[in-house]
Amino acid sequence: MQLPELTPHQIRSRCTEQSFERGLEYFHAGAIGNPVLQDWTLLATCQGSLPRPYRTSAELMPTGIAATRCSCPYDAEGDCKHIVALLLTYIEAPETIYRIGDLLATLALKPKSSLLQILSELLKRNPELAPILQVDADVPDTPPPGQLPLVEVYKERIDQIFGSGFLEQHQLRDVLIQLEKLVQHAESLAQVGESEFALAILHALIHQSIVRYADTLQWGEVPQFVNKCTKTFVQIATNEQEPLALLEHCRLLLQLSFEAEQVFTPFLTHLIEQLCSTQDTTDLQLTIAQHLDACLNRQTYVRLSLALYQHAGKTDAYLRLARSEREYYLLVHALFTCQRDDAAWKTLQECSLSVDEHWDLLKSPIAKRIPNFTDKLLTCLSHHDPNTAVPLYHKLIEQNVLSRKRENYEKVHEYLTALKTLYQRCHQENQWDTYLLSFYKQHARKRLLLQIIDGLNPTV
Ligand SMILES: [Zn+2]
Repeated sequence: MQLPELTPHQIRSRCTEQSFERGLEYFHAGAIGNPVLQDWTLLATCQGSLPRPYRTSAELMPTGIAATRCSCPYDAEGDCKHIVALLLTYIEAPETIYRIGDLLATLALKPKSSLLQILSELLKRNPELAPILQVDADVPDTPPPGQLPLVEVYKERIDQIFGSGFLEQHQLRDVLIQLEKLVQHAESLAQVGESEFALAILHALIHQSIVRYADTLQWGEVPQFVNKCTKTFVQIATNEQEPLALLEHCRLLLQLSFEAEQVFTPFLTHLIEQLCSTQDTTDLQLTIAQHLDACLNRQTYVRLSLALYQHAGKTDAYLRLARSEREYYLLVHALFTCQRDDAAWKTLQECSLSVDEHWDLLKSPIAKRIPNFTDKLLTCLSHHDPNTAVPLYHKLIEQNVLSRKRENYEKVHEYLTALKTLYQRCHQENQWDTYLLSFYKQHARKRLLLQIIDGLNPTV
């Protein structure tokens, strides 16, 4: 772990001149108290204008500063003066910073009795630490399957916030304000490296909000709040380097999604999909397969399953499911991606994709891998689904006109010629004439274009 070398110049570039000068004064006045370095997090108290000091922290990374945070109300540009004072301490007075890693390494060598002695001494001086220790003491060493003990602890607390019984709208609003504070608490725990606690709080918030949704008037506020929690959950979990009980979280949230109102399903499945890219998700796949027939949001779960198969590299299972669920776009895309081109073209002929789906194929890396992909796709589509081919030609023509280059204009000519044939084959000569006339009118000032497409006439 190589901590960054910071310079005063770097700090200066992160804040206003005034914040820097005041921060420098704070630093020299000794305002920074108990600076601590835990992994990549630098944190300390900073004595500001109020009697109670602010909590200020900086998240470091090998190349510098990843993020900073301060509990003061400063919300103008750049870092506040307290953060400046903290960072100056890191540069100018590193010897004053307690290194938690070193400290823990030393403590690890002490016998249990000495550690208990230290804990009791700490509690005597800081009784506010007792609830934190209590939570730890309540947690059994090995969690029983299907349960995350920390989550259970927080669920109970959140349930108390919800209170018993039905919530009127104004009551719900008060509850949500308190729940928001818990989200902020989780975020600040994550900032100081306590991701496990942070995720447990968020999981409990998601769970209880969904379970208690029935006790509200089911306004949009609760789903919105759950959406926010799932996003924060993903953010914290993906930033977390240590292996966590992530899969267990996913398992429980998946189970919850089957029981939840449909409005919550997309948030939960999205969360699971985001987190499962590096995990072995075989049992999640099985669980979904078992529930699929009873799912109200079937397509959402099909998509989730496909994503899990894809992450796990289970191509055959992916293709089977995509085919049986008629997810033809995904099927074609996957076939091309794993270079089963013949099967992909065959599928394209058998099933119909929308114009947008064809467009997406044209914009995907597949189009770069296969030579003349656009032309091949157009030919294939013109034969078996001319009604989709026509609007696709329109889109391609529009796109090429926009680029204003000669070679693109030549492409326009080619597409227009093919389009004319297509219209004729569909006996839609009138539509062709209308289209061409409006095309000429719209681009009347593009002389080069008109010159190149010269010779294309209305059919009548
Ligand atoms: Zn501050």
